[in-house]
Amino acid sequence: MSDQNQGRMKIIYHEAMTAYCPPPGMFDAAPSDLLDIQMTQPERPEKLANTASVLKRGPVGKHLDWETARSATDDEILTFHSQAYFDRLKEASRTGVYMSASTYIYPDSMKAVLLAAGAAVDAAKAVVSGEYKMAYALVRPPAHHAQPEQADGYCFVNNVGLAVHEALKSGIKRIAVVDWDVHHGNGTQDGFYDRDDVLTISMHMNHGAWGPTHPQTGEVDETGSGSGEGYNLNLPLPMGTGNHGYLTAFDRCVAPALRKFHPDLIVSANGQDANAFDPNGRQSVSMAGFYQLGRQLRSLADELCEGKIVITQEGGYNPTYAPYCAHSVVEGLLGLEQKLEDPIAFYPDDVEGGEAAVNALIMRHPLL
Ligand SMILES: [Zn+2]
Repeated sequence: MSDQNQGRMKIIYHEAMTAYCPPPGMFDAAPSDLLDIQMTQPERPEKLANTASVLKRGPVGKHLDWETARSATDDEILTFHSQAYFDRLKEASRTGVYMSASTYIYPDSMKAVLLAAGAAVDAAKAVVSGEYKMAYALVRPPAHHAQPEQADGYCFVNNVGLAVHEALKSGIKRIAVVDWDVHHGNGTQDGFYDRDDVLTISMHMNHGAWGPTHPQTGEVDETGSGSGEGYNLNLPLPMGTGNHGYLTAFDRCVAPALRKFHPDLIVSANGQDANAFDPNGRQSVSMAGFYQLGRQLRSLADELCEGKIVITQEGGYNPTYAPYCAHSVVEGLLGLEQKLEDPIAFYPDDVEGGEAAVNALIMRHPLL
């Protein structure tokens, strides 16, 4: 790593990713005849724009170096997705089509999809090349539900998967994905399910399968197949798990799995929709919890892989609190004090409930 980048993080971003908005409806469903005023779909530009501004103007700002994202090439997309799927996506984006009940693609969003994918590949390059220890693809739309052959859950191209393949191509041997987005990282799971050189870990709200585009359950028995058996760790956490439960799960489930696998690189699928005020999540994690998740991941990366972490932005749908939580994650990852104060969290942390939930999970988990 170049010395002048010590203790710094690269952020890869492009304003064009805030230049589109999915059509309004009833929350994230299609418009309802019963409503006079429809709601704007939750995956909106404000969260990303505010995350960029809070990172620029908040206490972490002086530790960040910004780079403008470029569009991914077809070859980069095809490291994770099939040609048939990518052709279908491109064709759908020309007119505007729902690719699942809540996942709408059209020309302006396709530009963002390609920029987000390019940002993820370049974040991997920045870390693998030794330019930075940590690089963050700050992007939308999110990515981790996108499967090799299927769009799902606002996601079209799996940026995490592209970053992993870029690192593998560069000679990195063992990669661990740590996904703390509140939803199951089913697309990433699907793309690496039969591999033993990519450990996929997902901590998520226990929401189960949600229809034909998301048949994976996120349950403990989805552990991988063939030589990938044992290399997919799902940690479904009950609704309302809270800071203490999340950190206990990280400490007792994620950390041992990472130590056992001993990755050469960690890829963080960094969603903030486990936050206490998220319209799409029920997990009551506050800025303090996100800060600690960032610190713990950094500490494990220091222990196992020379501190190398590629970060890709996933969900987070409260347009003001989620960006503050993203700032807390970055403070934690950089090993800084948590200086940005929490302006709104007032949720009590259910210490006993969170711990009991993790104990119950460990008792029934075949990999723990
Ligand atoms: Zn999510």
